[in-house]
Amino acid sequence: MIRARFAPSPTGFLHIGTVRTVLVNILFARRNNGVVVCRIEDTDKERSKKEYEDDIMEGLKWLGMDWDEGPDCGGQYAPYRQSERTDIYERYLQKLLDQRSLYHCFCTEEELEFQRKQNVSNKNPQIYNGTCAHLTDDEVKKRIESGASSVLRFRIPPEKIHFEDLVRGRVEFDGTLIGDVVVAKDTHTPLYGLAVVIDDHEMKITHVIRGEEHLSNTPKQVLFIKALGFSTPIYAHIPLILNPDRSKMSKRKNKVSLLDYRAEGYLPEALINFLALLGWNPGTEQEIFSLPELIEQFSFERVQKSGAIFNIEKLQWLNSHYIRALPINELTSRVLPHLFDQGYLELPKDDIMKATSFVINANKETISRDLLEKYIALEQDRAKVLSEIPPHIAFCLTDTLEYDPHLLSWKDKSKEETCEMLGLGRDIIKQMKDADFTTPSIEMAIKTEITNKGLKNGAVLWPLRVALSGQQNSPGPFEIADALGKEKTLERIANAISFLINFH
Ligand code: GLU
Repeated sequence: MIRARFAPSPTGFLHIGTVRTVLVNILFARRNNGVVVCRIEDTDKERSKKEYEDDIMEGLKWLGMDWDEGPDCGGQYAPYRQSERTDIYERYLQKLLDQRSLYHCFCTEEELEFQRKQNVSNKNPQIYNGTCAHLTDDEVKKRIESGASSVLRFRIPPEKIHFEDLVRGRVEFDGTLIGDVVVAKDTHTPLYGLAVVIDDHEMKITHVIRGEEHLSNTPKQVLFIKALGFSTPIYAHIPLILNPDRSKMSKRKNKVSLLDYRAEGYLPEALINFLALLGWNPGTEQEIFSLPELIEQFSFERVQKSGAIFNIEKLQWLNSHYIRALPINELTSRVLPHLFDQGYLELPKDDIMKATSFVINANKETISRDLLEKYIALEQDRAKVLSEIPPHIAFCLTDTLEYDPHLLSWKDKSKEETCEMLGLGRDIIKQMKDADFTTPSIEMAIKTEITNKGLKNGAVLWPLRVALSGQQNSPGPFEIADALGKEKTLERIANAISFLINFH
């Protein structure tokens, strides 16, 4: 039985790279009918925060990631938070001390700094020089009794270390370049690297799938595993995520928190599709994948070794695809939070998703959810992210449009000619029956008139579109007229005409 795990450290908000690791674990485990374990790695007490753990869990659930065992759902190998597993670690630390794989190191920060400098000037590898490696038991006892503080170091044997990696094949490291590493602060507080090995063993993990940044930890962990008599899991180190200039994505320079992508209005479907394609390809032209399709097709053979470029345009392209594919009712539900956050609608007292009408902030008009859907539909084919929909439909959520009257003129048309064209549109619309006021029939009526009069499309449609939207770029005039309704459409055309007449 395959047992994979992902093990986020709650030392920051959910990172996009962590999401990718979680996703790959899920794809691999589900593909092979295995189990996925979620473990919270909060050994670093100073940096770990409950707030971050909550953010990680919420973000993963928002994306639709699911796991079989974890701090939220329990499981056979609970607890799944490292901070609750101290007694387990103590047992193994004691075993390693008893078999002399570990030793107490009393070197102070200053001494270590001095060693580091010496190593630099002698051009030696930057490793611990072993000062405390050969202290006798009595000496250690004496120092501890005298109150000297110590950490625990692991004796790294000077040998070649190798392990199998599903992405990289056989990986080798030279033990002589590692040096004895600190693995615990004291006899009950292991550091991350050792705790991981103990937990993976205790939780019967068969596959360790994680980011390439952990590749250099692996030889040490393989040695810990040997010393503890565990069996080595199969590793898969997935490539780093890079900027288009191949620099590493960093918190300082990039948007790396999943929350930011969510706030901007990226859909979970798009993010999953995008992250799966970061470093993996299906070997076909297919680019759009649902989660079940990814599970069906994923394999490590098609994961690349080199860094994966984070191409934001690709993410936006996928996001537009998924926005277009949503039923309008669902798209409306997803845009609603953005309309409130950006202050276009008043927050209803009751459940937002159940509300059937809303109050527009600008004019206090009440509009039905159905009408709001029509407005949102105007942008469905154009939007890259959900957060850009509210400003783009803002012209529907107001009574007063503000725009430069010059914008109404198509090419070099005069004010008079523009007024005339607007008048023509107005007269046709006036004659239309309310029941007939739909995009195709408005289009048909106006275009027939344009043909009959031998006019250019732009001469009529451009001023009409600007009169209705007040914008340089917007959806077409027929769709907007349909969404606004006959009355508002006529009002806006009349306003544009008087705007032009009064404009000098
Ligand atoms: N806790 C580690 C991290 O958040 C992951 C450790 C591992 O996967 O082995 O990067």
